[in-house]
Amino acid sequence: MAQIINGKLVSQNVREAQKKETEELFQKYGKKPGLAVIIVGEDPASKVYVANKEKACIEVGFYSELYRMPESTTIEELLALIDRLNKDDKIHGILCQLPLPKHLDEEKVILAIDPNKDVDAFHPVNTGKIMIGNHSFLPCTPAGVMKLIESTGTDISGKECVVIGRSNIVGKPQAMLLLQANGTVTICHSRTKNLKEVTKRADILVVAIGKADFVTGDMIKEGAIVIDVGMNRRQDGKLTGDVDFESAEKVASYITPVPGGVGPMTITMLLQNTLTAFKQTL
Ligand code: NAP
Repeated sequence: MAQIINGKLVSQNVREAQKKETEELFQKYGKKPGLAVIIVGEDPASKVYVANKEKACIEVGFYSELYRMPESTTIEELLALIDRLNKDDKIHGILCQLPLPKHLDEEKVILAIDPNKDVDAFHPVNTGKIMIGNHSFLPCTPAGVMKLIESTGTDISGKECVVIGRSNIVGKPQAMLLLQANGTVTICHSRTKNLKEVTKRADILVVAIGKADFVTGDMIKEGAIVIDVGMNRRQDGKLTGDVDFESAEKVASYITPVPGGVGPMTITMLLQNTLTAFKQTL
């Protein structure tokens, strides 16, 4: 039976260290890391994420500003706010919650954020830096996954790592981070043939598909580490991952639950990027 990787606990430990460092920096410089979060529209899931981000900021002693903008916001209004925040010395990180309402061009918004304040690491300058291994900010969810793997005491070097999913937010940067940790990395997607054959090779399997309970125990190598990034709502409203936990935990050595696995780490890594952005200004 697999050991459960407790994302809440790992996250709590990292946040305690962040809080301590924030206090020490405040004593020394009289300044705090500042994060501005922008939400446009009424998407219920985005509202929850944004509220959690603000709460987390307060918990570690950061300064935070929350901008709630109506669905009718124009691109000019949104870009004007980002421009103002880019120039604001109190703000070290800017996050615009995605997805945006359809009439707003996400690419324009991502490009407008100063790369030095781009704590989501979505700007091409930052994704490029991740690619060459010379990053300022790490992509939040993949960086959280790396911390969770690290918490098992496993050395990734030389391990067969399989990532299912190739999104710009999770799959691709995840593969890069595993590669930088010297894993032998395979990326799978919807056109992958014989998926089970590939996943069965994985010592470390990271699943980011967005399909409830898709990966079952028979697709997992005995003793593998299984990280479930998926967040799917069941019809009864319950949250579930991309991995069928019940069958997978019988085969894996370590597994993340949903909720309580990758989710808490994503916000923690956002805080880490904000702290990094702040320290770069000192
Ligand atoms: P996405 O952009 O929809 O990408 C999904 C990926 O899965 C695509 O690359 C797709 O392949 C692949 N895929 C779909 N069906 C497949 C299949 N049958 N076999 C193999 N691959 C398949 O999703 P995402 O943004 O990466 O998110 C993935 C999941 O992670 C979602 O549940 C999301 O809610 C969750 N998530 C969680 C966090 C967190 O903090 N815990 C953060 C971000 C995302 P193609 O490219 O070929 O279409």
